[in-house]
Amino acid sequence: MKLLILDRDGVINQDSDDFIKSPDEWVPIPGSLEAIARLNHEGWHVAVATNQSGIGRGLFDMSTLNAIHRKMHKALAAVGGRIDAIFFCPHAPEDHCSCRKPKPGLFQDIARRYELENLQGVPSVGDSVRDLQAGEPLGCGLHLVRTGKGERLADLGNLPAGTRVHDDLAAFAAWLLEQPKAKSEKTSDKTPDPA
Ligand SMILES: [Mg+2]
Ligand SMILES: [Zn+2]
Repeated sequence: MKLLILDRDGVINQDSDDFIKSPDEWVPIPGSLEAIARLNHEGWHVAVATNQSGIGRGLFDMSTLNAIHRKMHKALAAVGGRIDAIFFCPHAPEDHCSCRKPKPGLFQDIARRYELENLQGVPSVGDSVRDLQAGEPLGCGLHLVRTGKGERLADLGNLPAGTRVHDDLAAFAAWLLEQPKAKSEKTSDKTPDPA
């Protein structure tokens, strides 16, 4: 199957240093939802891996996070797109969990959910170095977008080897859909359980 993994804040929607704490604060980056829809139409399944430490910090609760995600799913459906599943880390940094990126826990959960031994060649798109570091040990193809935190990332020399840089998610989608078919379908034949 064709699977790809996206960070949320700064990739799909505008990021904020004050956290995205309500559905109103969730505002899509222009072209990002259409890019996901376009990828879906070409057979790509999309999973999201997102740090949501605002929960652990007590800035918002699970029902608010669910409301934010309902808004995202609805906005996506309106343009014909779909996200299979959202994997999130609710912990604060001082919890020292194994899922907060740059730790690979969310990516390991995704591999398990899709019954993949690893994520070799699965494209992963993030706007910060820690997104890339989380996918690297599982073999993800690493992609940085220059939206969100990626816009302000001064030193592109610190990126893991092999990282590709794109202007935004729409530019990433255009790049991915240009790749030869064999390359993009090499991950697995398996179909995941419904999320
Ligand atoms: Mg981000
Ligand atoms: Zn965590």
